[in-house]
Amino acid sequence: MPHKECFIQDNSCVDKFKQAHILSQSATMKLVHGPTTAGLNVIHLGNKNKQGSYEPKPIGWTKASAYHCFCHDHDNDLFLPIENDNKLDPKNAHQLFLHVMRSFSYVYYRKKEQMQFYADLVKEFHEIGDSQNKLQDFLAQFIVLPPRELSKEQALKYNLSLSFWSFQYVRNELLKSLNSNKFENLEYRTLIFPERLPFASAGVLLARIVEPLPKKMTIVSINPGDPVVKSPALMFNVLPDKFDRTIIIAAALKDDYNAVHLLNKFDRLPQPELGKALTRLMFDANKENTFLHPRFWEFLKKNDYVSTVCKELNEDRGYDSMLDSLKLSDLNLFDQKLSCKAIGID
Ligand SMILES: [Zn+2]
Repeated sequence: MPHKECFIQDNSCVDKFKQAHILSQSATMKLVHGPTTAGLNVIHLGNKNKQGSYEPKPIGWTKASAYHCFCHDHDNDLFLPIENDNKLDPKNAHQLFLHVMRSFSYVYYRKKEQMQFYADLVKEFHEIGDSQNKLQDFLAQFIVLPPRELSKEQALKYNLSLSFWSFQYVRNELLKSLNSNKFENLEYRTLIFPERLPFASAGVLLARIVEPLPKKMTIVSINPGDPVVKSPALMFNVLPDKFDRTIIIAAALKDDYNAVHLLNKFDRLPQPELGKALTRLMFDANKENTFLHPRFWEFLKKNDYVSTVCKELNEDRGYDSMLDSLKLSDLNLFDQKLSCKAIGID
């Protein structure tokens, strides 16, 4: 059974679930799908092969970017202002907020799904007892995860719950905004790229910050018992639209000082560094929810870019230092030379 959990969780939630699309099918995904031998597909940047490495692969476009992270009614009602033929107004904080919240809800859902998976695993491990046969069956399930991790159960639980604070905190703040209809407690950056780009992306960077932090950026605990430093959350969307533009949205909670600091760093970058920093952010934080037009993937293959894409997808971003410059990709996918028009996608 797939994990099902509505991000909103209030008394208007219904039991019924359908797969909610994080990137709107009609407004966004239709613009990046294309015919392949297996039908109408998109290229999923976050596909993992059997060895656990990232290896982009085509998937059916209707299945892409769909998760059980909103109940049926919330998925239907909440996002109407950013669905279908609505033209995104980059000055409309409500619309920006909905995009940002939808990206975050997906990341939050994946975190909960992961926590549930580990909880089930630990439970199953404890039930094995002394049976060698059961132990063998249990170990046979794993391809990547080394079973010795389970002996560090306490550390595992601690790490999961530690990083979960950051997720809980952002969720609470987003729900406060939603419920009060006030969207100004986030800081937004929007960039309108004057061409339609052949990819779409939604996700959140939960950066790991390396000390020392400048004094004013140290985050004090949110609640008693919370960890002192939480991961800053930088939400990031790339949305090609029907009006032959691409809207790029980045956002952070205003009191998430480290995330706002990261956001400010993007402001100061000239081209082409900005494009390279956005590309790297997409590879590091958003790959699970980034989809390329199949013709664009062919183009990248022909021009020998694919090995660089795969190399960077499989690199760990590591720690972000508040004092260093932003991490850059070797590639700039936000280059006008890579727009749909420039590479011949209608
Ligand atoms: Zn709901």
